[in-house]
Amino acid sequence: MLKDFKPLKTYFIENRIALIIGLSSLLFVDTLQLFIPRIIKKAIDSLTIGQASSVLLLKYALIIVGIAITMAIFRYIWRYFVFGHSRKVEKSLRNRIYKHLQTLPLSFYWRTKTGDLMARAVNDIDAVRMAAGIGLVALTDGVVLGLATIGFMLYIDIKLTLISLVPTPFIFYFTLIITRKMGGEFRQAQQTFSELTESVREALAGIRVIKAYNRQPWGYSRVKDNGETYISNNLDLAKTLAIFFPMMTLFTNLGLAVVIWIGGRLTILGNITTGDFVAFISYLNLLTWPMMALGWVTNSIQRGSASMRRINGILDEVPEITNQTTNPFRGVIRGEICLKSLTFYYPQEKDPALKDIDIRIEAGQTIAIVGGVGSGKSTLLQIIPRLVETERGMVQIDEIPIHDIDLKNLRGSIGFVTQEAHIFSDTILNNIIFGRQGVGKDLMGNVLEISQLAVDINSFPNGINSILGEKGITLSGGQRQRLTIARALISNPPILILDDALSQVDTRTEANILNSILEMRDGKTNIIVSHRLSTIRRADIIFVLKAGKLVEVGDHAALLVVRKEYTRLYERQQLSEELGGE
Ligand code: ADP
Ligand code: MG
Repeated sequence: MLKDFKPLKTYFIENRIALIIGLSSLLFVDTLQLFIPRIIKKAIDSLTIGQASSVLLLKYALIIVGIAITMAIFRYIWRYFVFGHSRKVEKSLRNRIYKHLQTLPLSFYWRTKTGDLMARAVNDIDAVRMAAGIGLVALTDGVVLGLATIGFMLYIDIKLTLISLVPTPFIFYFTLIITRKMGGEFRQAQQTFSELTESVREALAGIRVIKAYNRQPWGYSRVKDNGETYISNNLDLAKTLAIFFPMMTLFTNLGLAVVIWIGGRLTILGNITTGDFVAFISYLNLLTWPMMALGWVTNSIQRGSASMRRINGILDEVPEITNQTTNPFRGVIRGEICLKSLTFYYPQEKDPALKDIDIRIEAGQTIAIVGGVGSGKSTLLQIIPRLVETERGMVQIDEIPIHDIDLKNLRGSIGFVTQEAHIFSDTILNNIIFGRQGVGKDLMGNVLEISQLAVDINSFPNGINSILGEKGITLSGGQRQRLTIARALISNPPILILDDALSQVDTRTEANILNSILEMRDGKTNIIVSHRLSTIRRADIIFVLKAGKLVEVGDHAALLVVRKEYTRLYERQQLSEELGGE
């Protein structure tokens, strides 16, 4: 179980000073705590034998006040250092997980649910933080304070100690059972809470549809049902908690009853002093917490290690291979692309998404790829920057297998506008430069002109510094697409890939944007997927895909002569353009 926590070792070493200060303060507080009953004993004994003076009693009182103040100070110190340590562990672990996630190949994301990753990033890290912080405290406290208290009790009377300890295993065991039950109920309540939040969010986001269809009762009942489940989950939790404390007091009082009965007799017989008798009762009370702590910590560490195992599951995922050769190509890429008998299967799929494809694109050419939905266009495009991995040698750029090109160089040489125009909640400027350094003003102006964003930006109150996303401006589909085109153009890459990148822009604007792009990119390679004939026909070569196979190759005029797949697509498109179906 402890093996699971191994990745945390470095953080414990890094934070060792804070940990040492924190844990020694904790032990110091524990020790001080153990001396209070000793003072009580002395005070009572001096009273019983009639030696007590008001000066002596004041002295004892002052000692207790002194101890209490010191304890308060050192309690603050250990909480600060130990919890500070656990927060640092949390932070480092979260950063490490996120950093690692960024290195993982896309294929990892095909088989992993985002919600699941989010849960690990939030709940599991939380459980680990608890184990590394309060869990550590409870463990130290439970063991050290528990043993020391028993030691002080044994010092008073061995037999009495053994008898009074009879209920303690029950306290430990009972805490173990109850905290486990509470843990399950707590997770259930958390789960329902996230469902409740989601249903409220959905009901508010979809308010327009709900109103339009008069479906308020439906929306209301969904929220209401989730709300009721949430309350009943919490009532379960409250019930368990309601059993816990009364049971604890019951156990403690059972111990107390035994001590009064047997310890009282020992006092009468003169085996122990009245002071010892009272001190013993104090120690018994002190012992309740370490027993509870041990029960609790067992669960906390179990839960922490289960979470740690899930986190390790992510950390053990193998990062995508950046460079397969020791001396990868880091030079300038011209942009000649060659696919040789390219075949590709998605994991777990029995039919290939691409089969036996041979394509040659000269540097500086503009080519188009066309085909119906699911014919493999996007898959083919993603193979070029190695977002989707193929066998070595199937894809070459400038005669170099892409696996021999430095991955950073490869991806840096390709401007890829994906099918979904992804915008981050940040300013327009940051969405375009995307963390790149040293983007010149002229280039920026040029790119904004080409993507025709300049006009839109002028109409926003904060111009290029307007914030996009949930709390800012909502862009139309076409605006988003044009923005992602600007993002690709800003690095002026040797290879530009547009995957259906202008589908939501009207035909005339698309033609204008394309004109300017081709003009700017004279001599560079462009790969375009589009459904618009006006766009496709301008390509030097058109490749037609059907069910993962390359079925036709040629320019627009030549393909029309063949009168097969391309002609079919062409006629369908022409019809929809005539019908104004844009
Ligand atoms: P297109 O872009 O031409 O519409 P895609 O390249 O997106 O086609 O998809 C080609 C085929 O691969 C389709 O049958 C699609 O269902 C399948 N496919 C795409 N992505 C995945 C994936 N992540 N896992 C499994 N199959 C996929
Ligand atoms: Mg696609």
